[in-house]
Amino acid sequence: MFELNIRFQIAAFLMWLLIVVDYRRNSHLQLLSTKCFRTLLILTGLNLVFDGITVYTVNHINEVPVWFNDLVHKLFLGSIVIIMFFNFLYVYILANNQRRIKTHKMLLLLIPIFISAIIILFGKLDYRITENAAYSYGTLVYVVYVCGILYLISAFSLTVNKKIELNTYQRHSIRTGLAIWFIILMVQMIFPRLLLSGLGLILMVLSVYFSFENQKENYDAMIRCFNKTAFHRMICEYNEKGKDMYLLSVSCDNFEHINNISGYDCGLDILKSIVKVLKKYFGNYIYHSENNTLSVFRSSETDDDYLNKIFEELSQIKFDKFEIRFHIKEINLGKYIVEVDDTYETLDFMSNELKGRESGIYSLNEDMWKRKQRHDSIVHIVSESLKNDGFEMFYQPIYNTAEKCFSSAEALLRFKKSSTKDLGFVSPEEFIPIAEEKGMIVELGDRVFEMVARDIKNHNMLDFGIGYIEVNLSRIQTVAVGIAEHLKNLISEYGISPEFLNLEITETASVSSEEILTENMKSLKESGFSLSMDDFGTGYSNLSQINKSDYELIKLDKSIIWPAFDEKADEASKNSAEKILECSINMIKSMGIKIVAEGVETKEMVDYLTEHGVDYLQGYYFSRPINSDEFMEFIKGKAVS
Ligand code: C2E
Ligand code: CA
Ligand code: CA
Repeated sequence: MFELNIRFQIAAFLMWLLIVVDYRRNSHLQLLSTKCFRTLLILTGLNLVFDGITVYTVNHINEVPVWFNDLVHKLFLGSIVIIMFFNFLYVYILANNQRRIKTHKMLLLLIPIFISAIIILFGKLDYRITENAAYSYGTLVYVVYVCGILYLISAFSLTVNKKIELNTYQRHSIRTGLAIWFIILMVQMIFPRLLLSGLGLILMVLSVYFSFENQKENYDAMIRCFNKTAFHRMICEYNEKGKDMYLLSVSCDNFEHINNISGYDCGLDILKSIVKVLKKYFGNYIYHSENNTLSVFRSSETDDDYLNKIFEELSQIKFDKFEIRFHIKEINLGKYIVEVDDTYETLDFMSNELKGRESGIYSLNEDMWKRKQRHDSIVHIVSESLKNDGFEMFYQPIYNTAEKCFSSAEALLRFKKSSTKDLGFVSPEEFIPIAEEKGMIVELGDRVFEMVARDIKNHNMLDFGIGYIEVNLSRIQTVAVGIAEHLKNLISEYGISPEFLNLEITETASVSSEEILTENMKSLKESGFSLSMDDFGTGYSNLSQINKSDYELIKLDKSIIWPAFDEKADEASKNSAEKILECSINMIKSMGIKIVAEGVETKEMVDYLTEHGVDYLQGYYFSRPINSDEFMEFIKGKAVS
């Protein structure tokens, strides 16, 4: 009988030992939840010790003093309520990103502990000792279990709250742990002599351990440092603590490129090397915060000399023939960051800003912060303007050199003045990339098509010699599934058919799928749209792409035109720029594709380009982009003159 009971205690204790050994082997994050788990583990250990002693004292009730037997039983029972309380606390902190419980809530939560304490202090325990069982029972025991169950229900209710930050697997693990404890408790109620409660508790802790506190959960074994989950937890922790903290991140700017060319292993080696350098300077708490980034938290700003030393050492990392670009970034979290998401957004912003810049140390300073705030304001006004009709289309007339008249125009997107308020003029060059980055470009692109179709219709543009309007397509739109049908439907609402729109496409090197792009271009053509290759000469649109698609027009970018007319440039470079321009024009013409020259600002450019057979001219020489009313006046005026 005695042996049967102690067996459960021994099994539970061995499990506890196993968790402790495994736990101690790994490094842990300095989180509130970690502290809470540690307390939970210690309390469970104590509970098992008390449990073991009670088995002995109750079985030798006549040999041990009554007060001692009572004491260990009460300690054992009391620890159960406290464990259940800490288990709840632990789940709460995890589920709320390390948030602390407010004092009034905490007082409310302590009520069951308080009740149990009173009952335990003043209540009396009864013992049942029969031939094959020995255990305690009575109201006191039931009150303790009911209080424990109250905490169980509270913890369970957290896992059904949709708003909390736990994934399905984590929710299941917590529920499983709680369910195990509950089932074992019920079995114990029915068969009190089994004394299973210690086993129930340790299984509950084990379930939590597996899903939250084990090494795998927070560790990136490939490069031997903490992972993104750990990073996120630390960010939440510091955010809650509100302490001055610095985040030091090292990113490999051309990581993707190196990965693509040299393979995944090479990328991994680079990350491992960075970890090694950082560990040397900062110890074990290094976080793999982004694919290409490793971070470390610091309680004070890092000394410049120290940073330079780290930078020097990082610069020694070499792979094959690659030059690896390292950016060391430092952010004063206490000064700049309010919400958890701000950290990620700031890191993202900095990465975008620094993209392509040479290796170096770039701390978040006032200037960069101001730019970030402007960026955030633009994100806000793009999103507001989408809701409140805050955009309008401007049109820049395009001159037809053969017919000597304005036969088309490029539609260029603008914010209405009222939308941007104190930001002043915001060029599409600035806000289109932001709309792309924030996933708003497809909606914005749709709006452009609707506005253009509406303007064509309302102003009867086509009756005034305008054959078509050129509309810019973002590279993200060019790879959207079913784009041709979609755009056709949009403009058909206004009775405009695709042949009146020419789509300007810039084929950047980074489109996600060449195949979809080619497929989309084909179906756009089949739907009746005509296509232009935009920005010829900028390096994005190149010769190999001309062949692939059936372009009606190629637009020479201003950057290929202006150098040929640059008065300040020396003769030699001006000559070679002119050669490039001339050859480009001849080559495109020989392929039977028409040419639009953009950025035409002077009479000299007009004459030269006309002489060389450029079909269309667009630029400030003729007109800046103007709103639809002004554009109609311009066209009507030209028709008369
Ligand atoms: P882009 O397609 O290369 O457009 C031509 C840009 O050059 C326009 O700037 C235009 O105002 C400017 N420009 C035209 N002629 C001259 C000139 O003689 N001198 C000078 N200095 N500039 C001239 P904008 O309107 O600021 O647009 C900038 C870029 O924003 C466009 O470059 C285009 O890539 C993008 N964009 C504009 N509207 C839209 C749109 O509706 N959708 C998309 N996806 N992108 C747009
Ligand atoms: Ca364009
Ligand atoms: Ca251009």
